[in-house]
Amino acid sequence: MKKIGIVTSGGDAPGMNAAIRAVTRTALKHNMTVMGVRRGYNGLINGDIIPLNIRSVSDIIQRGGTMLYTARCNEFRFDEGLQKAKTTCIREGIDGLVVIGGDGSFRGAADLSARGIPCVAIPGTIDNDIAMTEYTIGYDTAMNTAMALIDKLRDTMQSCDRCSVVEVMGRHAGHIAVNTGIATGATYIITEEVPYTVDDVIERIQNTQTTGKHHFIVVVSEGIGNSQEIAKKIEHATGVDTRATILGHVQRGGTPTVRDRVVASQMGHYAVELLIKGYSNRVIGMRHSNIVDFDIQEALSMKKSFENDLYRIAMDISF
Ligand code: ADP
Repeated sequence: MKKIGIVTSGGDAPGMNAAIRAVTRTALKHNMTVMGVRRGYNGLINGDIIPLNIRSVSDIIQRGGTMLYTARCNEFRFDEGLQKAKTTCIREGIDGLVVIGGDGSFRGAADLSARGIPCVAIPGTIDNDIAMTEYTIGYDTAMNTAMALIDKLRDTMQSCDRCSVVEVMGRHAGHIAVNTGIATGATYIITEEVPYTVDDVIERIQNTQTTGKHHFIVVVSEGIGNSQEIAKKIEHATGVDTRATILGHVQRGGTPTVRDRVVASQMGHYAVELLIKGYSNRVIGMRHSNIVDFDIQEALSMKKSFENDLYRIAMDISF
């Protein structure tokens, strides 16, 4: 393994830059040449590739986003696109790739590995929705951003005796919702994993009103998708002035937390070591706080469990 490439693909996440830095520096330490592939798999198809040296990755560990840009690339889902990418790797002398992204990006990495270009993937997504790992890069920063914003909302909700229905990201996974919900003392947390009705939410708010509470936070996971509607129903039933706030993409930006920088550094370092040892078609994860790796197909077939205990705790203590 003399020359490797790095790709960031799919949705961006804070900490991707720290992973790029770790991959680059680890590879350079092993006297390899490092290339940065830009805009996801598009860069492999159209040859948008830049050399990375020690200083190219200076001053990025503290920055959100990705210095290599990221994008989705439909062409890469088909054989023709994959063949073009393989041809680019051969032409550039790229012996292996580290791909940082979500499960869609892992599928692309598996397809390219099957065509003879060794790939190792690193989970980078704010949603923490990947089954084989306890942790994905960007998750902690996104949760802290959501928490800080909900804290600000609470100040104004509290002053004006209002209810705030706050939609947090996470796609179809409620991990951000349950964790930020517990961390902000939400009266109710609505996620796809736990059955609910709006009447349940209203009943809980009404019970809480009888104990002297006048302001409420309801955290809603992105996949539920009808925060405005939920807000209207709460206002109608309780008489509490209720506003819906969709936090949106602010949760994908910002300076990465310690946890994201450290995990990104560990995973980036580990990925290069796997390539050096001759592995291909692997994805890195965290299990019991240790860095581990799996076959990509095996990883993609796993099912993510939900933090039901944490949800129950939230419901037990926030009323
Ligand atoms: P994420 O990696 O964040 O889950 P996507 O699902 O959009 O994001 O996937 C990112 C990119 O990975 C896609 O734009 C595409 O280039 C590639 N990809 C996704 N699914 C496949 C697949 N089944 N085969 C090959 N490449 C894929």
